[in-house]
Amino acid sequence: MTAPTLDSLRRPGAGETVSDATDSERTARWARQIRELAEKRDAVILAHNYQVPEIQDVAHHVGDSLALSRIASAASHSVIVFCGVHFMAETAKILSPDKTVLIPDAQAGCSLADSLTADELRAWKAQNPGAVVVSYVNTTAEVKALTDICCTSSNAVDVVASIPADTPVLFGPDQFLGAHVRRILGRDNISVWGGECHVHAGINGAQLAAKARENPDADLYIHPECGCATSALYLAGAGAVPADRVKILSTGDMVTAAKRGSSRTVLVATEIGMLHQLRRAAPGVDFRAVNERASCKYMKMITPQKLLSSLEQMRDEVVVDPEVARRARGAVERMIAIGTSGGGGE
Ligand code: SF4
Repeated sequence: MTAPTLDSLRRPGAGETVSDATDSERTARWARQIRELAEKRDAVILAHNYQVPEIQDVAHHVGDSLALSRIASAASHSVIVFCGVHFMAETAKILSPDKTVLIPDAQAGCSLADSLTADELRAWKAQNPGAVVVSYVNTTAEVKALTDICCTSSNAVDVVASIPADTPVLFGPDQFLGAHVRRILGRDNISVWGGECHVHAGINGAQLAAKARENPDADLYIHPECGCATSALYLAGAGAVPADRVKILSTGDMVTAAKRGSSRTVLVATEIGMLHQLRRAAPGVDFRAVNERASCKYMKMITPQKLLSSLEQMRDEVVVDPEVARRARGAVERMIAIGTSGGGGE
């Protein structure tokens, strides 16, 4: 029997009038259909924290990109449906080469990953022979394959500190994270690529400081696993907001902190999709976005309709050249060996 489409699910069922079928009933019907199809396909559905609420709610696991990739490689399923952006699905494929990895829309890119291409990195390396390349996980598989060690924003300082102090480092693509690492380590032999995430532009220092002043009792949560928060990380380190109120937390630790913390108001300096998980986990806490417009258009390209089509038609499949995947996996595994303090995710 062919599976119904989301449009048909959104139409009233047999004997049902338009007013009988509420939005929540239609969403529940869609969610049931998604879970049934996932079971039939032997698929695990992973959703990044910045996905729309319906997708977060229907997913088997919600978290940051690296935590989701680890869950994917440990899962017994033969199919992974990655609701996030393309480099994240690629990372899942790199860590699970024998599984089929699907993304509901292969066009869901990332402005930060796009800001450093493999050709640009090749040329940068050629100009700096002997330098060690450290790349943030927000990079394509090809860039990872040209990288010595990947890093997350949680462990970027530890990764660079593991490189002998007299060895030059090329750090890319995120300029804020690179500047943060350079400041913390006090090293002047770190060259930083000038890339950035378009969402971070909505979270600037003046705005962060003003929000902190308006909410003197509020804590400030920064989730570091996506480029949109790296400017907040940099600004917090530069003293734009009182250090004792800033908490750099993984998603899992954010939820724990929100439940246990004494603060009833929390300012969240990251993409607004994160608020859904936090409000669900700690409904008694007033979570406020530092910038309501900090929304990633690429993340929002993954819609409920596209997730349904992805499971129905087994598309879009993520393919990574095996040799590129092998070299990229080496860079990711060296990162994991150094540790990801504070970046565990859910
Ligand atoms: S929020 Fe920024 S870094 Fe994250 S996926 Fe979107 S564009 Fe990329």
